[in-house]
Amino acid sequence: MGLSKDQIRQWLTRVPHPEGGDLVARGCVVGVAACDQHASIKLSLVSGPKDPDPSPETMQSLARKVEQVVKAAAMASGEEQVVLGVEFINHAGKTVARFGAGEPPASEPRQAAQPTQQASASGIDGVRHIIAVGAGKGGVGKSTVSVNLAVGLARQGHAVGLLDGDIYGPSLPTMLGLDALDQTVLDGALQPFHVHGVKAVTMGKLVDPEKPLIWRGPMAHGAFTQLTERTSWGELDYLVIDLPPGTGDVPLTMAQSLKLTGAVIVCTPQKVAQDDAVRAAKMFQQLGVEVLGVVENMSFFIGDDGKEYDIFGRGGAEKMAQRLGLPFLGSVPINMALRKNSDSGDPLGNFDPAAAGGPALPKALETLVRNLEGQVNLASLKQGKSRPSLTVR
Ligand code: ADP
Repeated sequence: MGLSKDQIRQWLTRVPHPEGGDLVARGCVVGVAACDQHASIKLSLVSGPKDPDPSPETMQSLARKVEQVVKAAAMASGEEQVVLGVEFINHAGKTVARFGAGEPPASEPRQAAQPTQQASASGIDGVRHIIAVGAGKGGVGKSTVSVNLAVGLARQGHAVGLLDGDIYGPSLPTMLGLDALDQTVLDGALQPFHVHGVKAVTMGKLVDPEKPLIWRGPMAHGAFTQLTERTSWGELDYLVIDLPPGTGDVPLTMAQSLKLTGAVIVCTPQKVAQDDAVRAAKMFQQLGVEVLGVVENMSFFIGDDGKEYDIFGRGGAEKMAQRLGLPFLGSVPINMALRKNSDSGDPLGNFDPAAAGGPALPKALETLVRNLEGQVNLASLKQGKSRPSLTVR
């Protein structure tokens, strides 16, 4: 049968909070992701910026209780082997401790990737997780979502790289505001641009932006390999790759040439976009790449009257995800500020209600990032990148 996140949330109502009530009623359950026998649970025990972080002992004992309760409930519902990861975040959303995912209990926030055995699990030294962002069609907002996921993950305290793999029409120079910056190469290695909290590399800074980029398959692959392998990424928690659109030779070879943790598929709500997104999802699955989730972009529009207009048929991509049994990561509204911030190279503005046309966009992006983190944790557990220590027999 497998676990479901709703079921786990329900079970977590049985775990008492150290100061009374239960974890769910106290609002401590920030996120749950589940698939088959794997589950990842994100908890927060602080309610305000002034609250101190809980002690390592408190977190450890709570993680144990969560394990016991989920274990007992899972066994009662016929699940034999459950692999569980429990993570605690602080008020700023940064991870302060992980249990059960091969991570030792931590009392300090992890600011950057730790060089562990997981470091080269991705195939690039020092990079823990590679996430490819793909789309069945061009123009659905794949680059926009890649940029905002990367910046959003960095805002959570992760060390993040962003690679513009869309070698035919690189958008990162504009979206990240790289126009005035020069590409540097040191000892034959590309030095990524350090912008908006992420390390970014794009073909757009290596070629004449006015010339069309015409690549044949093997050339495209060679260029992509050089961008990934000949860049001084350093230690990264996440490398987000903006793939070229479609299911042709180039995205396929790129997706195949790296050990991806998984792929994110961006789709607009219309039926025609969904059909292409289904093809993209199947391409990843055929390559053995896990689909971490679907993002519905341009989901709805909020007018000046404050009303929400479902221009393209809101919910279409979510239904498609449900139909295919894929996780749904969330929706991004059509937002004029998002388009303006992208054109002016200011992605951080999308996370600030004053520059994002209100709180709807920052909220939507933060939800996406949180859900993606959950799915990545889950995928790592499933792929055995982390050694589960909370194994239920
Ligand atoms: P793709 O990478 O799929 O080709 P882009 O991310 O380049 O698509 O987006 C195409 C255009 O649409 C860009 O100008 C971008 O700023 C704009 N755009 C994307 N998503 C949104 C949105 N949710 N609201 C407003 N404009 C958007």
